[in-house]
Amino acid sequence: MSKEFDVVVIGAGPAGYVAAIRAAQLGMSTACIDKWLNPGDKPSLGGTCLNAGCIPSKALLESSELYEKANKQFDKHGIKLGSVELDLAQMQKRKTGIVSTLTGGIKALFKANGVTPLMGSGQVVDSGEVLFTGHDGEEETLKAENIIIASGSAPVELGIAPFDGDRIVDSWGALEFDAVPERLGVIGAGIIGVELGSVWSRLGSDVMLLEAVDEFMPATDRQVATEATKAFKKQGLDIKLGARVTGAEAGKNEVKVSYELGGEEHEATFDKLIVAVGRRPYTDGLCAKSAQVSLDDKGYVAVDEQYRTSLPGVYAVGDVIGGAMLAHKGMGEGVAVAEILAGEKPQVNYDTIPSIVYTAPEMAWVGRTEADAKAADIDYRVGQIPFASNGRAKALGDDTGFVKMIARADTDEIIGVHMVGPYVSELVQELVVAMEYKASSEDLARIVHGHPTLSETVHETALAVAQRPIHFPPRRKRGKR
Ligand code: FAD
Ligand code: NAD
Repeated sequence: MSKEFDVVVIGAGPAGYVAAIRAAQLGMSTACIDKWLNPGDKPSLGGTCLNAGCIPSKALLESSELYEKANKQFDKHGIKLGSVELDLAQMQKRKTGIVSTLTGGIKALFKANGVTPLMGSGQVVDSGEVLFTGHDGEEETLKAENIIIASGSAPVELGIAPFDGDRIVDSWGALEFDAVPERLGVIGAGIIGVELGSVWSRLGSDVMLLEAVDEFMPATDRQVATEATKAFKKQGLDIKLGARVTGAEAGKNEVKVSYELGGEEHEATFDKLIVAVGRRPYTDGLCAKSAQVSLDDKGYVAVDEQYRTSLPGVYAVGDVIGGAMLAHKGMGEGVAVAEILAGEKPQVNYDTIPSIVYTAPEMAWVGRTEADAKAADIDYRVGQIPFASNGRAKALGDDTGFVKMIARADTDEIIGVHMVGPYVSELVQELVVAMEYKASSEDLARIVHGHPTLSETVHETALAVAQRPIHFPPRRKRGKR
C-alpha cells in the first residue's frame, strides 16, 4: 500500500527543509526525502549548506582566523602566547561537531513540526506520485497532492581536471583535509576559492588561485573588489587573473597544472588542487522518463513566478531553479512555496537578497552597484566612509575597508550598499531592512546608532550621501547627469 501525504519535498537542504517545516506549520501532512550520506554512510539532513557548505566552511574560517590572530595579532593587544601550535584534528573535530549538532537540530525540528523524514532518494514519477528508495534499496510509492523539488546543486567538474577525491578535490573535499597542504592550487577565484583559499593560507599553505576572468569577482562593486584584493595579496593569496588552465595531471604525491597567462605557458605544482568553478543544478535521477518536468537551457528546473514546474502539482525551489545560489535565497523560496500551496500570496523580494563573502576583510552587499545604476541610467548620489574613522573598529584592531551607499538623486531612496571590512556580514542586514522598507539615506541618517559600534559607519555613510558626515571630511561624488 502506498503512503499518502499532502506534500512530499525532495531534498532537505535549506530550501527543502524550510519548505517542509512551513508546510507542516500550515497544517499539511508532509514528508521530506533526502539521500545525503556523510562519511561512514551516515544519512544526514541539511543538504550542501549544513553538511558541506555554509556551516563547515564558516567553522573553519573562524578557527583559522583565530589561529592567524593568535600568531600575528595578539601581541599587539599585549597578549603573549609563546609558540602557537595548530591541532588540525581538533579543528576538524570541532567543525564536524557543529555540523552534527545543526543537522540533528533539523531532525528535531521535523519531529516537533510533524514532518516525516525519509532517508533515501526520491524520484518524481508523475503529478502526485513519487518513488522513494531507501538507503537499504527498499522501494515505496508515495502519493502526494503536491510535490516540491529542492534537489539543490553540485560542483561543476572540469574535463581537464576531474575530481579524484585525493589530489584534485571539490569544495567538500577541501573542507576535509587532514593535513595542511604545503602548496595549494585553486582553480576559480570566486566565493569558494577565496573563502577556502583563506582557510588553508591562514593555516600555512602557499595558495595560488587561477582565475579565468581578467577581473576579480566582476559582479562586485569595483572599489570593494580592489580593497579586498589588496588585503588578500597582503595575506599571501596569489590570485592570477586571466589564467586559462590547460591541463592538470595528478601523480601519487602532487598535481602538475599547466596554464596560459598573458600569452605565455606556465606550469605549477601543488600538493592539492581545489576545483571551484561554480555549481550546476542537481537533477540526476530526479525524474522518471514519464515525468514531464522541463529544464531550461542551462539545466535548471524551469519554474514560473509561483514556483510551478511544467508538471501540474510539482513545484521547485532553491539552487535547482537558478538565480543566486545562496542558502537564504532558498529558505525564502521554501517558505513562499509552502504558503502558495496553502492559498496565501507570499513574495520573495529578489532585489534585497544580501550577498556575503566571509573572508578577512568580509565583503557584503545588497542592491545595485554603481555600474548597475549607470547601466539603468539612474541619477544617483554616493556616500562612502572608511572604517578607519570608527572607534569600535580601532578597538577591534581591524579598521580595513569602508561602507559605500548609493541613493537615487531624485527621491534619495537607497538602491545599493557595498561594504568591505569587519563584520560587514552582520552590518548588511540593517540595509536589507532599510531597503525592504524603501528607506532614504536621510531616514538612516536620522536614526541614532549605538556608540561605539561598527554600525556607526553605516550611519556616517548615510550622512555622507548628503555631504554632511560628522566624523569624516565630506567628499563630493555624484553619479550620472
Ligand atoms: P542543497 O543544500 O544542495 O540541498 C539539496 C538536497 O537535496 C541535498 O541534501 C541532496 O542530498 C538532496 N537530493 C538531491 N536529489 C535528491 C533526490 N533525487 N532524492 C533525495 N534527495 C535528493 N550559501 C550561503 O548563503 N552562505 C554561505 O556561507 C555559503 N557557503 C557555501 C560554502 C560552500 C563550500 C558551498 C559549496 C556552498 C555554500 N553556499 C552558501 C551555498 C549553499 O550551500 C546553497 O545555496 C544551498 O545549500 C542551496 O540549498 P538547496 O536546499 O537548494 O540545495
Ligand atoms: P563562483 O561562481 O562564485 O566562482 C567561480 C569562479 O571560477 C568564477 O570567478 C569563474 O570566473 C571561475 N572559473 C570558471 N571556470 C573557470 C576555469 N575553467 N578556469 C579558471 N576559473 C574559472 O562559484 P563557486 O566559488 O564555485 O561557488 C559556487 C556557488 O556557491 C556560488 O554561486 C555561491 O553563491 C555559493 N557560495 C556562497 C558562499 C557565500 O555566500 N559566502 C560561499 C561559498 C559558495
